[in-house]
Amino acid sequence: MTFTVIQPGNVLGVLGGGQLGAMFTTAAQRMGYEVAVWDPDPDAPAHQLAQRSFPVPFSDQPTLSEFLTLVSAVTYEWENVPVSLCRTLEAAKPVRPSSAILHVVQDRLEQKGFLAGRGFPVAPFLPLLKPDQLSAVVEKVGYPALVKTATAGYDGKGQWRITGESDTEQVERVLCESVRPGIRWIVERLVTFDRELSILIVRGRDGQTRVYPLAENEHEAGILRTTLVPARVPSEIAAGAAGLALQAVETLQGVGVFCLELFHLATGELLINEIAPRPHNSGHYTLDACSVSQFEQQVRALCGLPLGDARLLKAAAMVNLLGSDATTINDPSCAALLNTPGTFLHLYGKRIVRSRRKMGHVTFVAGSLSLAEERARQLCRKLASAQNI
Ligand code: ADP
Ligand code: MG
Repeated sequence: MTFTVIQPGNVLGVLGGGQLGAMFTTAAQRMGYEVAVWDPDPDAPAHQLAQRSFPVPFSDQPTLSEFLTLVSAVTYEWENVPVSLCRTLEAAKPVRPSSAILHVVQDRLEQKGFLAGRGFPVAPFLPLLKPDQLSAVVEKVGYPALVKTATAGYDGKGQWRITGESDTEQVERVLCESVRPGIRWIVERLVTFDRELSILIVRGRDGQTRVYPLAENEHEAGILRTTLVPARVPSEIAAGAAGLALQAVETLQGVGVFCLELFHLATGELLINEIAPRPHNSGHYTLDACSVSQFEQQVRALCGLPLGDARLLKAAAMVNLLGSDATTINDPSCAALLNTPGTFLHLYGKRIVRSRRKMGHVTFVAGSLSLAEERARQLCRKLASAQNI
């Protein structure tokens, strides 16, 4: 396929219409593109924003034809969209990142196998094909271990910790209940890390790259709660993370935005936890604290425009608003904090509030990370006390 720039005025297709798809849509529209969103969930936030919206299953054939005639290029907002659909779309229109990359990345076993096979550092892991092999596999991987579904897990869903032999039976029972044809799991050693880190990288069609600064993440029950940027690690760790990100997207020959989730061990070693082939929750700070956001870069890489500067303009701390946080934020106790200069409130417009669902986020930018962090911590405390946690 000869490479031409996709000009503004064309329609960009995005598979998945959650908050990531919505923020892609806003960025694309600001740059003069129209957007077609395909997400089976009619309540997905991007449907409200896009010029064309397809709230139908991904298997719908008439939609496939219409989508294909409409769009000039396609991307996706998360990795759990069908590879087969991306392959079909790719036969006619550019899909970035490619369906081959999606195939590798969307299955934890494929992804970890790909990385380990090419010498990238990952936690020890083994495949689990049948629940009754669990205890033998965990014995080999070593305690404590984490069992994850190979596909379709997110935000810590589809994961079970095994700290000792006594947990194995119970987890085996849970896995038996979820058995269906083709299901596989990965068993990973549960590593003890000093910090969780992440790093965003964008790679253009011409092989040019931009690497964002290293971010530091805190999770609660497998869900991202806060991101601090730049990460408080020695400069050689930040350089090592950037090196891993560059090598990983180079090896994948990826075009688009990617995020590496990393574990920083006490030994100083960095392990890759996973790679997302798309903008990432831990990169939301780029909207308010960087020259060019991860979503604008996604548009630029998709359309073949020159990539933008990935520099951090100010230190940033991001807090995810989970479940009822998005309404608790209206509590008078949060008002002064929200009125602080450099405070950005993002709400995703999801109609249904579920416990721990990502409903929005707040980014604090400041002259120093300690100041941004202090504001983020204050917000978490205020949210907790207003909810009497
Ligand atoms: P998800 O796709 O849900 O983000 P992850 O594999 O990133 O799945 O797991 C979610 C979180 O669980 C991670 O951010 C980390 O806090 C923890 N976790 C995952 N794998 C491991 C591991 N091997 N060792 C220690 N903690 C882990
Ligand atoms: Mg993750």
